[in-house]
Amino acid sequence: MANPNQKIVYTKLFINNAFVDAQSGKKFATLNPVTGKTLAEVAEADKADVDLAVSAAKKAFERGSEWRNLDASQRGRLINKLADLIEEHKTELASLEVLDNGKPFAEADFDIQCSIDTFRYYAGWCDKIHGNTIPADGGSLAVTLKEAVGVVGQIIPWNYPLLMLAWKFAPALAAGCTIVLKPAEQTPLSALFAAALSKQAGFPDGVINVVPGFGETAGHAIVNHPDVRKVAFTGSTEVGRIIAETAAKSNLKKVSLELGGKSPLVVMEDVDLDEAVEIAHNALFANHGQCCCCGSRTFVQEKVYDAFVAKSVELTLKRKVGNPFSTDVQQGPQIDAESQQKILKYIELGKKEGAKLECGGKKWSNEGYFVEPTIFSSVTDNMTIAQEEIFGPVQSILKFKTLDEVIERANKTTYGLAAGILTKNIDWAFTFARAVEAGSVWINCFDATTAQTPFGGYKQSGHGRELGEDGLEPYLETKTIVVKLPTKN
Ligand code: NAP
Ligand code: MG
Repeated sequence: MANPNQKIVYTKLFINNAFVDAQSGKKFATLNPVTGKTLAEVAEADKADVDLAVSAAKKAFERGSEWRNLDASQRGRLINKLADLIEEHKTELASLEVLDNGKPFAEADFDIQCSIDTFRYYAGWCDKIHGNTIPADGGSLAVTLKEAVGVVGQIIPWNYPLLMLAWKFAPALAAGCTIVLKPAEQTPLSALFAAALSKQAGFPDGVINVVPGFGETAGHAIVNHPDVRKVAFTGSTEVGRIIAETAAKSNLKKVSLELGGKSPLVVMEDVDLDEAVEIAHNALFANHGQCCCCGSRTFVQEKVYDAFVAKSVELTLKRKVGNPFSTDVQQGPQIDAESQQKILKYIELGKKEGAKLECGGKKWSNEGYFVEPTIFSSVTDNMTIAQEEIFGPVQSILKFKTLDEVIERANKTTYGLAAGILTKNIDWAFTFARAVEAGSVWINCFDATTAQTPFGGYKQSGHGRELGEDGLEPYLETKTIVVKLPTKN
């Protein structure tokens, strides 16, 4: 059962398998976005703490260490053990997530399940990561080894706190790396709980380190550290650019980036309209619109446009906003005051630039950071709300005539994270899927992301992939070993 009074036990930095205060003694507040009140004071990591965490992670990765000497299959068992412990503490973790992030309990519970699935998927990979034997020229035999890159820095956002941690931890651990992770300042609690569970699972000292703190200080220290060999980042395109620059200037460490999006969802005229309205509604409003791959440009073919808008408004007016611990609530607050203000500013811009406000448009309640579920129709490509990532519950519905036209318009963005098309016509579906510049394309569904399927962006939505077999690649080096063979054989 969801627990609004979930006790917060872990608030310190997790370094070398121990919870410790920050070197500076500083703490920062994490808030409950329903009330804006402080939930807990959490230790605030800075460079000195990151240095300690990296040094612990480096030691754990040294030749001859317990972690390095572990059979790959045993790494898999540890990861499975962590998945089991997360499952055992599922309600506590989901309740913490609701308190810290504000998402409805059912969504938090689903996130924790997806996190467990991700750990189990990668646990299975541990002893199946291997290279090739290559018949090289010159009478030699070449083999490749896939080796862990070493200490990795991981920086994650607040929209799916534990799930983003799972997407980062699981492939890195499967590859044999050691980790220093910084959760987002708004949502550090589930990461610290997971750190405690990793100790209970039996990961050796220093393999997993979690350092809550701010981006410009703790985050920067991770990205700038000479002993960190790779950084995996999920967040905004703006910060992604800073991270790539810092990584290049420090030690040219590898970087994988999962960034923002402005993903098109195309509704063709042959759809079952009620079903399409619901898919498009969930594609945008799930997680309060705070999803990197949300379908934030709903393109609807002109013949069904008016009916689609009317049905979407009807559905959206029924959307229940309120306390995320109430079982009938579908939408809680946005993450913080800054985010709420930004969304309201975009709504004003939408109105000013000539889009038609169909419903919503205001903040909801004077307490907390709620925004009404909002729909704009008559949105055109040049409007700010059709170009920039709003990251809130604001659906923009655009009209189009032909498939060729909508493909061109769908691609007219600097982003390329995801795209979707709803149609019964397989030719239309595949023409779109092949032509659209996006890392994931969903046909007759949206945001169908699973542990087995690679996820990541084209263009300025990032580089590198997470999940699936491809998700291991950023954590691995390929070593080529060449053996000179005797000439006669
Ligand atoms: P953000 O501002 O980019 O922050 C993400 C993380 O980076 C936070 O932990 C942040 O720390 C840290 N950070 C900020 N500045 C930094 C710096 N100079 N050096 C190192 N780290 C730094 O993003 P957000 O607002 O939290 O999250 C929303 C964004 O994430 C959206 O754009 C969304 O599209 C994107 N996102 C993408 C995916 C994907 O898979 N592609 C998934 C989820 C979200 P603080 O805690 O101090 O902010
Ligand atoms: Mg919080």
